[in-house]
Amino acid sequence: MEVSTESTRLEPATSQLDLAATDVGSVFVSNYPPYSFWSEEAIPAAERALAEPGDPDTPLGLYLHIPFCRKRCRFCYFRVFTDKNAEQIQGYLDALGSEVERLAEMPAVRDRKLHFVYFGGGTPSYIAVKQLEPLVERLKAAMPWEHADEIAFECEPGTLTQSKLEALREIGVTRLSLGIENFDDEILEINGRAHLSKEIERVREWIHGLDFPQLNVDLIAGMLGETWETWRDTVQKTIDYDPDSVTVYQMELPFNTRFSRQKLSGEEIEIADWQTKRAWHAYAFEEFEKAGFEISSGYTVLRADRKSRFVYRDAVWSGADMLGTGVSSFSHLRGVHFQNVDGWDDYMQRMQAGESPIQRAFVTTARERLVREMILTMKRGLVDLARLRDKHGEDPLALFADRFDELEAQGLLRRDGHRVELERAGLLRVDQLLPGFYDERYRNARYT
Ligand code: SF4
Repeated sequence: MEVSTESTRLEPATSQLDLAATDVGSVFVSNYPPYSFWSEEAIPAAERALAEPGDPDTPLGLYLHIPFCRKRCRFCYFRVFTDKNAEQIQGYLDALGSEVERLAEMPAVRDRKLHFVYFGGGTPSYIAVKQLEPLVERLKAAMPWEHADEIAFECEPGTLTQSKLEALREIGVTRLSLGIENFDDEILEINGRAHLSKEIERVREWIHGLDFPQLNVDLIAGMLGETWETWRDTVQKTIDYDPDSVTVYQMELPFNTRFSRQKLSGEEIEIADWQTKRAWHAYAFEEFEKAGFEISSGYTVLRADRKSRFVYRDAVWSGADMLGTGVSSFSHLRGVHFQNVDGWDDYMQRMQAGESPIQRAFVTTARERLVREMILTMKRGLVDLARLRDKHGEDPLALFADRFDELEAQGLLRRDGHRVELERAGLLRVDQLLPGFYDERYRNARYT
């Protein structure tokens, strides 16, 4: 494998934080405290949070989990199904509609406007137009979204048709997120993606012709079979695709992926090591910057001239209330985290019986809310500690001065008073820095 000097110069001098191999168990940090600490005992607290009037000053979002995919990617760690027929999918969408209607009646939700709506998965674009339109009508009747700042919709290129894209524009999608991941057919194939490059190309003109307010392209650095040559080509083709934003993830191996199971059973699965993935990530960011993008987080670049934003991410990371609906979805309300049941039958039965779908929950302390917001904001590369102190009533600088000094000495961040800015080297490995801010009891625990 080649190593470009451009990228290696971004590595800090001290790098004991490096994890050479991509081992099973690595995670993308999406919440705090870790999910493994959520429990059944805290469910009543989640029910109480829903039963009390909501805070009108806290933004509220709705997440809809559409758990269907044409094929399961070998690196996937989400709750998805590839075996459901049209009737079962319709049954699920009916259940989802019932859940949203049930939530809309709750005191914590009633009379509040939605700040964002996010259709995630799974593959939301897998569902047919004739199923999507009535669902959307029902959702909008329960929770109007005409004032929302963002309606995001995740798509897999091979599931899109021109008429489906027209329907998405019609229902008000503002951010179309296209899971391209890579442009190389062999790489797409061996990683188990359902689409190939011809499907990426086929939808391009349709998407641009409909002029969605924002087109995001997702890429993964470090898919099985990636080389410098294929990665450079993928980065260039992404720029040529002319998106408004690009999100680059580094390949992770949480326990529940096919790759992880294969690796644990002794099979040779050669995922690039962390240094190589970071070098690819760094190269992509540099190329995107040259092409007119600016960095908006450790994963995302936005076209500087198009005023793109990512409302969902910014709201969730800074403590917005979010109602996660659908099987295994995660919610956050008034400082209480909770998750829906993750079994298909369990979810469907509870929805048919009009029962709560909550499976486990966690009540955060004021300190945990402060740490959560601080570490998630750190993923954006810039943290205003004074703002966090004023919001949460405790000074994060007093709590973490030693940790910030240590990371500054390693060349991973810069601190100026209450302002913390991650260096590029820190930003590219931010998920590995965050557990150092966890409370002692969460540090070496399993994440999910
Ligand atoms: S498309 Fe996304 S959700 Fe579906 S299997 Fe692949 S990684 Fe998982």
